Amino acid sequence: MNLNCTFCKVIDNTIPVHKIHEDDTTLSFLDINPLALGHALVIPKVHKTLIHELAPEEISTLFKTTSYLTKKIHIITGTHATTIAINNGADSGQEVPHIHIHIIPRSRGDGGTPIHSLMPVRPKTNHEELKELASKILNS
Ligand code: AMP
Ligand code: ZN
Repeated sequence: MNLNCTFCKVIDNTIPVHKIHEDDTTLSFLDINPLALGHALVIPKVHKTLIHELAPEEISTLFKTTSYLTKKIHIITGTHATTIAINNGADSGQEVPHIHIHIIPRSRGDGGTPIHSLMPVRPKTNHEELKELASKILNS
């Protein structure tokens, strides 16, 4: 618990939210400034900022909840697609430093973009560079 953290305050019931699910280790609620109606956030009850700071069981529960809620949100909002995303760290645009998974309902013609359009320019690369990089990650 970090009492300077907005989402810890949500867990502590200091900040009211529109809850959509709660269990022993996760809490889910509607985003206050939604990108689409039904935009939801799934958070762990422990204060961690980055995904790899969570224990494997915590990650597992977080994604299980996300999967469970995505199905419900599709049904309730009448959508058949969602963008599921994490801003993982301040440099990626994370505003609340308590890890959260965004579930954003998507529909054809909604004017939004896929995550392929995340960066304005893609780095030029080649198979040699990718091979070396993959090998470093694989063997580290
Ligand atoms: P991120 O940039 O990934 O950290 O996103 C933070 C998200 O939290 C934004 O989409 C905000 O609209 C949302 N948010 C911030 N404060 C609240 C709150 N009190 N209740 C619900 N959603 C919130
Ligand atoms: Zn927190």
